[in-house]
Amino acid sequence: MPRHADHEMPSTGEPQTPLKILLLAAEVVPFAKTGGLADVAGSLPQAVHALGHDVRVGMPRYGRIRPEQFNLTRALDSFPVPMDDHTEPAELMQTTLENNVPVYMVESVRYFDRDGIYMYPDDAERFIFFCRSMLEGIKRLGWQPDVIHCHDWHTALVPNWLKTIYAHDPFYTNIASVYTIHNLAYQGVFGYRVLEIAGIDEYGFIVHPDIVDLNEVVDFMGRGIHFADVISAVSKTYAREILTPEFGEKLDPLLRDRSDRLFGVLNGIDLKEFDPATDPYLEANYTRESLDRRLQNKLALQREAGLLQDPHAPVVGIIARLTDQKGFDLITPIVEGLLQHLGAQFVLLGTGEQRYHDFFVELATRYPQQAGIFLTFNASLARRIYAGSDLFLMPSRFEPCGLGQMIAMRYGGVPVVRAIGGLADTVQDFDPATGAGTGFVFEAYDPMALYTALVRAVETYRHQDTWHKLQVRCMQQDFSWERSAHKYVELYSRARAFNAQDREMSGARHQQTRI
Ligand code: ADP
Repeated sequence: MPRHADHEMPSTGEPQTPLKILLLAAEVVPFAKTGGLADVAGSLPQAVHALGHDVRVGMPRYGRIRPEQFNLTRALDSFPVPMDDHTEPAELMQTTLENNVPVYMVESVRYFDRDGIYMYPDDAERFIFFCRSMLEGIKRLGWQPDVIHCHDWHTALVPNWLKTIYAHDPFYTNIASVYTIHNLAYQGVFGYRVLEIAGIDEYGFIVHPDIVDLNEVVDFMGRGIHFADVISAVSKTYAREILTPEFGEKLDPLLRDRSDRLFGVLNGIDLKEFDPATDPYLEANYTRESLDRRLQNKLALQREAGLLQDPHAPVVGIIARLTDQKGFDLITPIVEGLLQHLGAQFVLLGTGEQRYHDFFVELATRYPQQAGIFLTFNASLARRIYAGSDLFLMPSRFEPCGLGQMIAMRYGGVPVVRAIGGLADTVQDFDPATGAGTGFVFEAYDPMALYTALVRAVETYRHQDTWHKLQVRCMQQDFSWERSAHKYVELYSRARAFNAQDREMSGARHQQTRI
């Protein structure tokens, strides 16, 4: 068993004096986004700022971020950044998030003046440059953070640098690091050469007796886990799961070694953005006091999806990347049963693997009045599905946190989920005896387990009084960023305490060797 079996955060007991936090991420809303990381990197700093801390954000200025659109001004003129055996010039631009949180953007014609964000052959070099520029940049700015909060593989070398080549520079010595894993499946794996580019070749590979692969590759995420003062994952259950071979993506032995430093903090959602009372994309706005108005959204969705407009047919919605991670190999064997035997309707929005595109196109041809299939990315339609479906499906194979189930609940959709990762932490199984719970939860990764949960859900749906109470409970859940921000601040204090403790220990070791 891991040392921190429940991955609860023990209190540091430290008074909450204002902290200085630098948050580094490859994508940040509203400047650049390809996934959930950008939402976290845009929302968390604002919530931490609201608690009274000096939090600033660092990211690259990609070519698509137009300076005039975001009022970018120059924070630092060109300065040299060590790369490989030479230096490259960087500039630092500056703007703010909505509530005045400063955002620094690293400017470089060579690395970032391109249309896209990722998927370039020199990605490792690009993000090494970004992070190193930020480390060099804060010293030039004279702004010394207490903690650097790094996200995903792109920023994972920062804890590595802080513990090695920057460890004895007084400006950096006291800076602690927190490393957050959003999805262990993307680790950033490269060859030895990147260590030379990053200036840490003298420290070589991380050698771990139980992970032979690590002796031959540079795994950015592995290095973040190895060197950070505190590691976090985006839900408590996922933080526990990644300690096992099933979810650990080969890094579980390393994570187990560091399990006393590993915590889980659930992501929040933006409650202003996702609010059925004000959402401009809905047919009718509603609150939990006026839930009857929600039906108008259901009928409008049925119309938009070309389905039979039937107020009594349970509408099952799903919005997801069409991949195995999201459990589509469980859905395909049972979806016809859902339509034929349970009398449900099915609305899907997503893009992904071709075999799933083909499958669902064919399903819509055979059940035109029961299956509405949208193979596209459409943020406003997504909201209409959250507001118009009775049930929201997330039978994921693994799910670090998951946003869909939280948004669905905020909109009064009842989730049907597998009991893993963030899904287990956000949805409690409905118990008809007590009336407690917020959704329908199943355990085994098996189509019949999903189908059984759907049978229970559709059966409960037929009892409208019970269903109404279930919806209200879903809408009452607190998924605010404020809640998560308190937990991250706790983690920042923890990271500082670990950092001080480690420095003391290495100081003591140093003394001993000198004697
Ligand atoms: P992941 O980040 O693994 O894809 P999450 O549930 O954490 O899954 O977040 C996915 C987010 O992207 C949700 O807010 C969901 O509504 C949105 N989304 C996914 N696919 C689409 C799509 N095709 N159109 C619109 N929004 C989508």
